[in-house]
Amino acid sequence: MEAKVIEALKGGRRLGIMGGTFDPIHYGHLVAAETARDELGLDNVLFIPTGIPPHKLNRRVTDANLRYAMVEMSIRNNKYFKVSKLEIEREGPTYTIDTLRILHTFFPEQELYFITGTDALRELFTWREPEEIIRLAKIIGASRPGYDSYGLLASFARKYSFPKDQILLLEIPALAISSTDIRARVHKKKSIRYLLPDEVRLFIKENKLYQEL
Ligand code: NAP
Repeated sequence: MEAKVIEALKGGRRLGIMGGTFDPIHYGHLVAAETARDELGLDNVLFIPTGIPPHKLNRRVTDANLRYAMVEMSIRNNKYFKVSKLEIEREGPTYTIDTLRILHTFFPEQELYFITGTDALRELFTWREPEEIIRLAKIIGASRPGYDSYGLLASFARKYSFPKDQILLLEIPALAISSTDIRARVHKKKSIRYLLPDEVRLFIKENKLYQEL
């Protein structure tokens, strides 16, 4: 991991880890990270854009360095937010368990909080070593309005055995915004203004991203 990121995160007690493809990052992600930081008393939130997502080997995903650049420009003004190329620089598909092990090695004294969308977490128990993921980090499900995340938790509780306070939910109204919708809007030449930071909007335009789905 980047030396400047390690240095910036040293000394904290609670580290949020915002995992996602971020294709592109938008205000829903930023509000989710800020809400988690605020409500859970996190010292920092580390954004980790995925490298090759294991479940998306067949879908077109924007070049990781461009996705990283969009995250980087979006979080620049928040001193609690950092971004790392940890997953981008790893060879092959990236698994959350490997990322958590690396972070635990660097920051053994910090409590880890892995934050991601409840849509992604629905599949948590099919990921590599789910029990170990839940042991190493608290899992924070950021849900879209209208998503039955309590139903999801209840179904996990029925099917699997895990400490119940290791999976928490946060409803994030701003997650009405979605990357899929933004990509579709760009493709249809519709406005994406106010859905994501303006710098990212201009970056998408300059780099002609999402013209094809
Ligand atoms: P995804 O399938 O692209 O996204 C699923 C849903 O979750 C989408 O609705 C997405 O909304 C939302 N979402 C994703 N990240 C979010 C975030 N940080 N905050 C709020 N909503 C979020 O999922 P993904 O982005 O590829 O994966 C999410 C995380 O799970 C990543 O860190 C990934 O590495 C991990 N994961 C691990 C494994 C494994 O270890 N086997 C398998 C799958 C996923 P938007 O499209 O608007 O973002």
